[in-house]
Amino acid sequence: MRRIYLDHAATTPTRPEVVKAMLPFFSDAFGNPSSIYFYGQEAKGAVEEVRTRVAELIGARSEEIIFTSGGTEADNYALKGAAYANERKGNHIITTSIEHNAVLEVCKFLEGRGFKITRLPVDEHGLVDPDDVKRAITDKTIIISVMHANNEVGTIEPVEEIGKIAREAGVCFHSDAVQTVGHIPVSVDELKVDLLAISAHKFYGPKGVGALYVRKGTNLVPLMHGGGQEKRRRAGTENIPAIVGLGKAVELAGQEMGKEAERQAYLRDKLIKGLLEKIDHARLNGHPTRRLPNNVNVIVDFVEGESLLLSLDSEGICASTGSACSSASPEPSHVLLALGLPAEQAHGSLRFTLGRENTDSDVERVLEVLPGIVARLRAMSPLLKTQK
Ligand code: PLP
Repeated sequence: MRRIYLDHAATTPTRPEVVKAMLPFFSDAFGNPSSIYFYGQEAKGAVEEVRTRVAELIGARSEEIIFTSGGTEADNYALKGAAYANERKGNHIITTSIEHNAVLEVCKFLEGRGFKITRLPVDEHGLVDPDDVKRAITDKTIIISVMHANNEVGTIEPVEEIGKIAREAGVCFHSDAVQTVGHIPVSVDELKVDLLAISAHKFYGPKGVGALYVRKGTNLVPLMHGGGQEKRRRAGTENIPAIVGLGKAVELAGQEMGKEAERQAYLRDKLIKGLLEKIDHARLNGHPTRRLPNNVNVIVDFVEGESLLLSLDSEGICASTGSACSSASPEPSHVLLALGLPAEQAHGSLRFTLGRENTDSDVERVLEVLPGIVARLRAMSPLLKTQK
């Protein structure tokens, strides 16, 4: 069966060029970058080259990049690191109700240890209002954390405006850019962020590696203590093959991002238009225009998202419902609830996220099979019968 993968917000296939770049760093260039002899310096050179590449992609300086084990660690380090570094100044953190759990759960953890958390609401499209951020700031506010784009509904947040507000108030500003770096242009200076989280496996790099951008002068208490790696900011022998893979993914994204975003946005719009035309009682979630080029998220009334997923899977189509990272959970998505959807509608959401290998024929295949699946499931649905 031809399989069509449409869940690139969950993860992407590691590109062959990336794997090829990584391979020599397992057994040939295997050195520990902390060693002063040839092998160590060879590995160190590779790491520093990637640091420069990552910095260039986001308009930062190489010394402002710290390698991590992925987006989750970058978010944890940013929030816990900044919270404990600033606890004498205050204990108030502002975030939003639609963040990834890598931010929300850290906030919950900090809340249990005396920090006060304000979780801002969003409008029906998932947009945070910068004025809400401004109003929420107090003299105890030490961190503002707003994601660059939402992983479920694809809404791109007004991070630049919020960054301006944070800077004027002198508050450290973190943004989770896991869904944007490598896909759309990200400039730390334009966004006015002090901390920014990156994950390689969302843009065709390997899993388990990412980076945290830390603006010069931003104080963080380290998450990992041990050796003096990463200028004492993140202890532990570096995962050289993974870092090299991140570097190759960054290089390729830098070359292809613009063209690819345009191509995927065309497929996205074709899929959205087709779904809304062919399926009644279906609506788009997220912002109609301020959205990621690869994100399609729709509500299909009177059916369960899980049933849609299973039926699509039996046709070889991989998609997701709710948050990809927690799609095994039966709870409705916290993001869709924050958009104001009732729980039963949030259960009927379907997310397709396009990628490099998807073509027109993949979109056509979804449009060919999904209306029949919905009709079959609705025929069995008690939800629809009560509506009639
Ligand atoms: N933040 C966002 C917005 C995400 O979408 C994800 C992954 O789904 C993460 C953080 C976690 O990143 P990682 O899987 O690299 O830990």
